[in-house]
Amino acid sequence: MKTNKENILKYKRVLVKFSGEALAGGNGFGIDNQILSYIAGEIRTLIQNGIEVGIVIGGGNIIRGVSASEGGIIHRTSGDHMGMLATVINAIAMQAALEHIGMNARVQSAMEIREVCEPYIYRRAIRHLQKGRIVIFSAGTGNPFFTTDTAATLRAVEIGADVIIKATKVDGVYDKDPKLYPDAKMLSALSYDDALRDHIKVMDDTAIALAKDNKLPIIVCNMFKEGNLLKILSGEDAISSIVK
Ligand code: UDP
Repeated sequence: MKTNKENILKYKRVLVKFSGEALAGGNGFGIDNQILSYIAGEIRTLIQNGIEVGIVIGGGNIIRGVSASEGGIIHRTSGDHMGMLATVINAIAMQAALEHIGMNARVQSAMEIREVCEPYIYRRAIRHLQKGRIVIFSAGTGNPFFTTDTAATLRAVEIGADVIIKATKVDGVYDKDPKLYPDAKMLSALSYDDALRDHIKVMDDTAIALAKDNKLPIIVCNMFKEGNLLKILSGEDAISSIVK
């Protein structure tokens, strides 16, 4: 899909990552249909403007490996399998919400679940993106002891995304906790080393290191301000933070 806006876009192919918790809304658990529809609408604006979009969603609104294994009955590996399956549930919900508003979307999974979605196949993913289909990469990396931030970074690097968008509920990265310090300042840009050294929880260290090695910029932004994603991808940089 080509539009005249395509010329002014700063980024052509992007990977949008958001946590499972974002889908839960006020409930803190499960999937809130209104939020699902809102996010689908925001993603649609990107497609309508000629941007190719991959998505990775976490699974924290359903289960995380670490917490599943806390009681000592479930081994961490099994807990992580459960966590990865949770991301498939979220991905299927997002696929439905995107299709509901006329988008073409495909879920691919790093763990094979043939009746439910495609397996992750790099070349097929690229083809989908080129055809304007949104690819939702689910089941993380397919390996326990990793996070969906790392999975998102890995997929972003694989598909040659220009940027990874870490879509959150906050505007960007601050020099100190804005909830505790009213004079906290949002940083417009910081280096990978700053992010690693100061343990700014932009993403986990594995994800940041992978982004650094592959010179993949990470944009941290607020997904819950309508129109923000498109503004940022069109080059408006004062409303987000970039790690590069
Ligand atoms: N997970 C995993 N390997 C991966 C990605 C995810 O084992 O490559 C599991 C892990 O248990 C994690 C859960 O899936 O806790 C859900 O992902 P995450 O915690 O990253 O979700 P988010 O916090 O973004 O909602």
